Amino acid sequence: MNTQPQNGTLASLTFDNRFTRELPADPETLNRRRQVTGSCYSRVNPVRVAAPRLVAYSKEAAALLDLLPEACESREFVQVFSGNDLLAGMDPYAMCYGGHQFGNWAGQLGDGRAINLGEIINQRSERWALQLKGAGPTPYARTADGLAVLRSSVREFLCSEAMFHLGVPTTRALSLILTGDPVERDMFYDGHPKEEPGAVVCRVAPSFTRFGNFEIFASRGDIKVLKQLLDYTVRIDFPHLGEPSPAVYIRWFEEVCRRTADLIVEWMRVGFVHGVMNTDNMSILGLTIDYGPYGWLDNYDPNWTPNTTDAAGRRYRFGHQPQIAHWNLAQLANAIYPLIEDAKPLQQAVDLYVERYLQGWKTMMARKLGLYAFEPHTDDALIGELLSILPSIETDMTIFYRRLADLDISVEPLADISDDAILAPLMEAYYVPAQITGEYKAAIGNWLRGYIARLRKDNVAPEMRRLQMNAVNPQYVLRNYLAQEAIDKAEAGDFSRINELLDLLRHPYTKQPGKEPFAEKRPDWARHRAGCSMLSCSS
Ligand code: AMP
Ligand code: MG
Repeated sequence: MNTQPQNGTLASLTFDNRFTRELPADPETLNRRRQVTGSCYSRVNPVRVAAPRLVAYSKEAAALLDLLPEACESREFVQVFSGNDLLAGMDPYAMCYGGHQFGNWAGQLGDGRAINLGEIINQRSERWALQLKGAGPTPYARTADGLAVLRSSVREFLCSEAMFHLGVPTTRALSLILTGDPVERDMFYDGHPKEEPGAVVCRVAPSFTRFGNFEIFASRGDIKVLKQLLDYTVRIDFPHLGEPSPAVYIRWFEEVCRRTADLIVEWMRVGFVHGVMNTDNMSILGLTIDYGPYGWLDNYDPNWTPNTTDAAGRRYRFGHQPQIAHWNLAQLANAIYPLIEDAKPLQQAVDLYVERYLQGWKTMMARKLGLYAFEPHTDDALIGELLSILPSIETDMTIFYRRLADLDISVEPLADISDDAILAPLMEAYYVPAQITGEYKAAIGNWLRGYIARLRKDNVAPEMRRLQMNAVNPQYVLRNYLAQEAIDKAEAGDFSRINELLDLLRHPYTKQPGKEPFAEKRPDWARHRAGCSMLSCSS
């Protein structure tokens, strides 16, 4: 009799849990909050939930696991990805990691509410780790409950997939499930707790290892496990580097630096602010990880941070992200130093980050502006000037760059065009018309004339330039208020907007008929609304 499970079903998932098989486990199996030493993870089961209900799933993330839509719409899927059932081969655990939070060493953090289910190997021989977020407390839950609410889960689910379709490296989201259990949250930590619907997201990534996974062992002087973890990481996640050795550790760190630089360039391209770039939220694969109080720039303001917890110091503001990544990499370098015992190559790799970032940023900015290539003698000034003009009045970043592609660069004579005429195609990007003073118009008008003159030098066909610009300047991003509207509806029991946004954001660079409202700038009501401009870590 043929007992092979059918392709595309949950039963066909093939687990190969190397993380738990090859790395030291916490010998204690009781799920109580504590310091866990000498081990990379603790086995722990998800909690049972009352009435799981599928809100949304990503067919693209499902395809990574070779799951067909029918499997994702099955009763079993909801049971498994809410944490109620385990599939054969799953081996649930929470990882031990530490981290620097807001610049200070915070000691052991760990997966407080994330439970890894195991790793699958798909039909293309790719390894994908599955992880539930909000599936109950673990030994790392500290004083918190291990749960997640619907609002933060909607935000994580939608943004993970939106980032993927934008071309930004990210962990993925397979599913968003309501648990049917209420969760108490004090959203702004101001003594007003309320019950919110609980939810679980299943995240998918080749690995969820963070800088903090290494830092915790270094901080404890546990060089043995530090080495085990790094050897494991090199073998499993960076096999192209060869067998682990001190020389390979350096190459590994260089690659982490490169990937991190490339990631931050992408955030700066699309206007994404992570909000909590603590070292426990930095992926060693250079993926965007842990979508908490993140936000998207509406008006271009490099000083903006969405995170109310960060409002005073603005450590994680948009324009500071490149420096923070640099600082975080230095912490990772410190953590692996005991395995290399030579600071010089580590310092060189961290320096390499700066070089790679700057180079990547310049190339990216040139692409955003539709330049054939970055020419230092003209374009440093061109870009610098634009970035000083943009925040001077409230200018929507996404709309501004998108409209720039519509500029008519054939106008003659260039010097005679009025500021009003040259600015006309960009007017939609401005939030407060009264801010468009004569002085502002003169500044942006001058810049636009210089920009047009620069574009002419490239001699690229206008239609070609437009296509190239529209491929890097998105038409749609997950604006903070769009996510909040979807959350408001979902909390009232209507999930249609979540699925509509998921669908829209599959093609962020393509104008979609009937979807014009999603490309508009933030409406005024959202300017100071919780969830739209202010977010907290409470989730
Ligand atoms: P974050 O800044 O959200 O990445 O979280 C920092 C640490 O707090 C991590 O160790 C999380 O697992 C943990 N954490 C956050 N929220 C909760 C929660 N509701 N229950 C348990 N642990 C949590
Ligand atoms: Mg985190």
